[in-house]
Amino acid sequence: MTNPKLKALVDAQKIYNDYTLRDDNINWWCGGCGNYPIQNALKRALALQGLERRDVMFCFDVGCSGNGSDKIEANTIHGLHGRVLPLAAGFKIGNHKMQVIAEAGDGATFSEGISHLAHAVRNDYPVLFILHDNQNYALTTGQPSALTPKCQSMSAAPEGLQIEPFHPLEVVLGLKPSFVAQTCSADIDHMTETIQNGLKHKGFAFINVLQACPTYNKFITHEWYLEHIQRLPEAHDPTDMESARKYAFSSDPFYLGQIYHNPERQNFLETVAHRDENSETLINEVAHQDISKLLAKL
Ligand code: SF4
Repeated sequence: MTNPKLKALVDAQKIYNDYTLRDDNINWWCGGCGNYPIQNALKRALALQGLERRDVMFCFDVGCSGNGSDKIEANTIHGLHGRVLPLAAGFKIGNHKMQVIAEAGDGATFSEGISHLAHAVRNDYPVLFILHDNQNYALTTGQPSALTPKCQSMSAAPEGLQIEPFHPLEVVLGLKPSFVAQTCSADIDHMTETIQNGLKHKGFAFINVLQACPTYNKFITHEWYLEHIQRLPEAHDPTDMESARKYAFSSDPFYLGQIYHNPERQNFLETVAHRDENSETLINEVAHQDISKLLAKL
């Protein structure tokens, strides 16, 4: 094939197809669920970045988003509830060459896993993290999460919770991150572009996906999002934290795009590079140690 643009498209299509499940005899998500376009955008972004199956490790938390582990042909692991980020960090530290992607819902991330989120941002692990923000614990039939609005009636809490929710971007921006973006499951092209940017980032890339859950989140639908989302203005400078906070905290409209970026920050692997003179993974560093005498004593 002589046309390079055409060849690139054919190559991307092949990679996309490789990620597509062979066995369609599987329980799918509910009709209209935002998980479908998120997964589609993720596959598109990987294909456009030329990242083949052998190059990528997917780590899934527990929840509806976590059930994505059964719905993609890839290297996947389904971890414990709220613990997906240490799992993902471990994979990356073990094999620097893998592109590691972690996915979790807002329930696990901002309750069971909030300490792991804090330390993943603090350490700037080179992991792409996709937050499925549907503002409830959907797999457990609509329990309120730490992001559900105050007093919002849910199937598992008819009068809602009487406490204020966390704002996910406020929490993360307070942790001095290196990359924060927001996108929405109602806009597949924007999700694709945002995930591509996250894949190119060298540290911890936090992407908040505003996600519709039509079964249990009746108050925010794809149609509602389409009327309340807006691309960030071109004048926004993502390296300016003050500007990032201004746009991140808006909920009408919700701003989509690169909210904050600090490309100068050292990621975790850079902070430990002196240990192996940049030549080995931490796993190989340990493998150099001769433990035969210790083993002989057992
Ligand atoms: Fe999607 Fe909600 Fe159904 Fe879960 S319960 S599959 S998040 S629509």
